[in-house]
Amino acid sequence: MSLRPYIVGNWKMNGLRSTMADARAIDRAAARYPAVDVGLAPPFTLVHAMAEAAQDSAVGGQDCHAKPNGAFTGDVSAPMLLDAGAGFVIVGHSERRAIHAEDDAAVRAKAEAALVAGLSVIVCVGETEAERDAGKAEAIVAGQLHGSVPQGEGAADRLSVAYEPVWAIGTGRVPSVDDVGAMHRSIRADLVKLYGAAGKGVRILYGGSVNAGNASELLAADEVGGALVGGASLTAENFAPIIHAAAMLVEG
Ligand code: PEP
Repeated sequence: MSLRPYIVGNWKMNGLRSTMADARAIDRAAARYPAVDVGLAPPFTLVHAMAEAAQDSAVGGQDCHAKPNGAFTGDVSAPMLLDAGAGFVIVGHSERRAIHAEDDAAVRAKAEAALVAGLSVIVCVGETEAERDAGKAEAIVAGQLHGSVPQGEGAADRLSVAYEPVWAIGTGRVPSVDDVGAMHRSIRADLVKLYGAAGKGVRILYGGSVNAGNASELLAADEVGGALVGGASLTAENFAPIIHAAAMLVEG
């Protein structure tokens, strides 16, 4: 792993004030592994509380609106996330793409809004099972990448990409390490096409059923710079070993 590892938890629509103890325990785990960047993306309602409590981890949103403010009932903007203490935001998660019908252009607009606001951004891409079975996985992911990542001067500097095969999310199924490496190499090549040398510094996270048992081998795959973790990020008991696995790869 040549770049500093980045391990990010996505709590999705989980978490109440009563579960802040888990967030604090994850933050303490992050403190034990200074070679690893750790982030936690709770629901909007916990962003501020977590940001106040976190000392050794970053706090992020799971989505943001492309506009800074306005008549968009129920939405939250990137400047609002920043104001609440967030340092990053995830955009284009497959659940947003599928359930909220977000297309690549919408994801790009959100990513660019995040950067303008001063946040870092994680752009998610990934193929469905039918697309993989049809031999189209790399083409689909390349299309999403070219359509979704932010454009403009310095856009690569605060960007990470999460490769999350849709069929691996929350299912307990993971691609082979070889397939993960092949996809990450393909994403890296596209990032260099898009951003030139700056594309080499973008961390590419793997996401989809990462857990304490499989983290070491997935994180060791080619061009994997970290992990985006759903279910296993909800407790320190499950998440800390993933942070530990990343630390072991860089510290030996
Ligand atoms: C996710 O939704 O980003 C994710 C990777 O979920 P899980 O780890 O639960 O598969």
